[in-house]
Amino acid sequence: MAKGKLIVISGPAGTGKGTVINGLMERERYALSVSATTRKPRGFEQDGLNYFFKTVEEFEEMIKNGEFLEYAKFVGNYYGTPKKYVLEKLEEGKNVLLEIEVEGAMQIKKNYPEAALIFLLPPSEEELESRLRGRATDSEETILKRLARAKEELAQKDKYDYQVVNIEVEQAVEEIEEIIRNL
Ligand code: 5GP
Repeated sequence: MAKGKLIVISGPAGTGKGTVINGLMERERYALSVSATTRKPRGFEQDGLNYFFKTVEEFEEMIKNGEFLEYAKFVGNYYGTPKKYVLEKLEEGKNVLLEIEVEGAMQIKKNYPEAALIFLLPPSEEELESRLRGRATDSEETILKRLARAKEELAQKDKYDYQVVNIEVEQAVEEIEEIIRNL
């Protein structure tokens, strides 16, 4: 069987990545990788579903054991893609989606040059800020850090193979599907 395709989707927090990924998942049976993180769960998040929530010690042990396809620190916490699930799904011929930040995406590009890297852009910086502020669970300090990081990330969009502007979710999903179909 042909191997599946590895698809990386990045975009600063507030670009609507989550919604776009849900839209993609509704249309086709992608395998969505669940990351490990040392960030504390937000209210609605479940261990094993949204993330595997780990302590710093547990995460560093996983790094030492070579369990990550990539990992990075983001706003003070570790985030990483467990290798096993992704490699198994690709072997099974499934297309695998990774929703990760820029540093991790660059590790993927280096180690898996055949991966497709897609950068999701907000319609404008104002829209991004208002979406970030809408996330009431984050403190002002966290919002400001995330906003600064978002701007840093936006500046790196040219390192990606494709850029998609998320003006309207359905349209963004359609564009991404088209990219994947043509890989
Ligand atoms: P959040 O804390 O908002 O869930 O995620 C923060 C950032 O970490 C987002 O940009 C998200 O895409 C990224 N992220 C989530 N999982 C991973 C991962 O496994 N590896 C890397 N490098 N980034 C991740």
